[in-house]
Amino acid sequence: MSKRQFKAESKQLLDLMINSIYTHREIFLREIVSNSSDAIDKLHYLSMTKPDEVKVAREDLRIKVSYDKDARTVTVEDNGIGMDKEDLENNLGVIAHSGSLDFKREMEQGKDVDIIGQFGVGFYSAFLVSDEVTVYTKKYGTDQAYRWRSKGADGYTIDECEMDGWGTRVVMHLRPDDDNERYSDYLDQYRLQELIRKYSDYVRWPIHMDVEKEDLVETGETDEDGKPKKDWVTSVEDEVVNSMVPIWQKPKSEATDEECFKFYKEKFRDWEDPMSVIRINAEGAVSYKAMLFIPKVAPYNFYSREFEPGLQLYSSGVMIMEKCKDLLPDCFRFVRGVVDSPDLSLNISREMLQHDRQLATIRANIEKKVKAELERMLKDERDKYLEFYKSFGLQLKYGIVEDYGMKADLLKDLIMFHSLREDKLVTLREYRDAMPEDQPKIYFAAAESVARAKQLPQTEMVSSKGYDILLLSEDADEFALRTLREYDKKEFCDVAGKDLGLETDEERKESEERAEAEKDVLAFVKEALGDAVSDVRLSSKLKSHAVCLTADGDISLEMEKYFSSIPGDQERIKAKRVLEINADHPAYAALKKAYDEDKEKAKDLAVIMYDQAALIAGMPVDDILGYSDRVFKLFG
Ligand code: ADP
Repeated sequence: MSKRQFKAESKQLLDLMINSIYTHREIFLREIVSNSSDAIDKLHYLSMTKPDEVKVAREDLRIKVSYDKDARTVTVEDNGIGMDKEDLENNLGVIAHSGSLDFKREMEQGKDVDIIGQFGVGFYSAFLVSDEVTVYTKKYGTDQAYRWRSKGADGYTIDECEMDGWGTRVVMHLRPDDDNERYSDYLDQYRLQELIRKYSDYVRWPIHMDVEKEDLVETGETDEDGKPKKDWVTSVEDEVVNSMVPIWQKPKSEATDEECFKFYKEKFRDWEDPMSVIRINAEGAVSYKAMLFIPKVAPYNFYSREFEPGLQLYSSGVMIMEKCKDLLPDCFRFVRGVVDSPDLSLNISREMLQHDRQLATIRANIEKKVKAELERMLKDERDKYLEFYKSFGLQLKYGIVEDYGMKADLLKDLIMFHSLREDKLVTLREYRDAMPEDQPKIYFAAAESVARAKQLPQTEMVSSKGYDILLLSEDADEFALRTLREYDKKEFCDVAGKDLGLETDEERKESEERAEAEKDVLAFVKEALGDAVSDVRLSSKLKSHAVCLTADGDISLEMEKYFSSIPGDQERIKAKRVLEINADHPAYAALKKAYDEDKEKAKDLAVIMYDQAALIAGMPVDDILGYSDRVFKLFG
């Protein structure tokens, strides 16, 4: 027996891995179990392709996980293909796999140590928890078994040994407990079962464990009353711990929606059934299966930074990532589910994943499917869609704004706004289809609530023309519409903006003449208000109301409110306020009268008019006491 050295780079990697402070040590079991599963796959394949040479029955193939408290070992055993001496040398003596090498490179650059947790490094992860690993193995069809043994970085030995049957047994001697990690926790049936279910539940081959059971058993004796006596008895039973066939691998006929919902609730810890399930079975450039869910209720932290989106990523039943963000566009970050593709390697690194073409193909397809499902719900199950929209509509609107509107087209037919005329949520398509022929723009009114938006004086004229108005009440609403700019060739137009496009040429001429006639009064009001407004105008938007506040330029009043709620930006982002006055309103007549007779009073009235307009627009009045004094002065 001679001591052999690992290849240089393997040694380095082992050193790094063993000594890194590292939280996901538990993945060692997943890695060792999936090696066993691969080994069984190989033997099973041979039994199918060379039935004369390899005679094994499918139902005999199995993996067994056990532990020994006294010996302080965890063992994973399989009756897969096994290894001969050469295989051992080639496979366990060197880490030459691309995934591992990539990992090493990242480690050297001082990047994320956690990478092992996400992707694993195969067999060597045994050293995350072990100070000595022994592999007993016999290749199918050969007579000689071998023992490979290593204490880690300083090399390994191979010698001959005895073994019944064929296959591989990996015995991991756990490291002593230290301040950071209690390795002895793995010497526990519940902990091991938990890990198998967490990471290896859908491994295709049965994973057996001897599990201890406590049963109340009749002792054969009777008590004073003549009843049979019972006692607790511990028995050991061989149990298959994993469920083997994942629900997403089953054809639709074998997994009802209800069963999928049940799976969703267990897997993603939701109390509620999801809105719907999307099943994808893709074959082609990349083959994969996916089962996606649209939840009903947003998790409490959904709209915060804490929420971690992503889909679970499996490769042939082995979980490789708990939350893979790269599989979902951010606008659909509410979707939960699993993606399983045999085309992805277990040892793929996170960085590779980001640039992975296969993954990009999957993501594009998922995006399409989720959109199609939401559209279907909107069309066929509106009430359900409305419920969904209550939870996640805001996310869709954020989605439009994000990334410079990259997803605006994808999402524009999924968002809804409250219609003034219908008094319910409508889509942009529905609004557009209901527009009269002559309506030039799509109108919206924004305020802090639908009720307030409804009350904006500027809505009156637009409504009176027979045009509907979308009532916006969330910050994201207006930003979404501004990102879209138009829908089906009709521009969006803020009723509190400058030009509503409502006047005919003739009407415009008339208003211009009127404004000319009133120009001295308007100039007086402007003077009285100073810097508070950029202009004072006669309004073409008002009918029964006296005044309104509008904004010239790109920044609307609602946007100003939004920005003033964010620390830092208040001063820079202000709307150009314009006071619009209804020249046909008695208030204007009163102002004019005062202008002719009592300039002091006219000045007060001008300021009151402005303050009223600000209040109606939901803007704060700066000099609230002055405002109140001026109003009381009117009492005479
Ligand atoms: P990977 O599985 O990515 O190839 P590992 O480091 O996990 O990398 O394993 C290296 C090789 O060792 C495997 O490819 C396989 O050939 C061999 N091997 C590991 N475990 C077993 C096993 N239980 N039975 C047979 N061969 C095994």
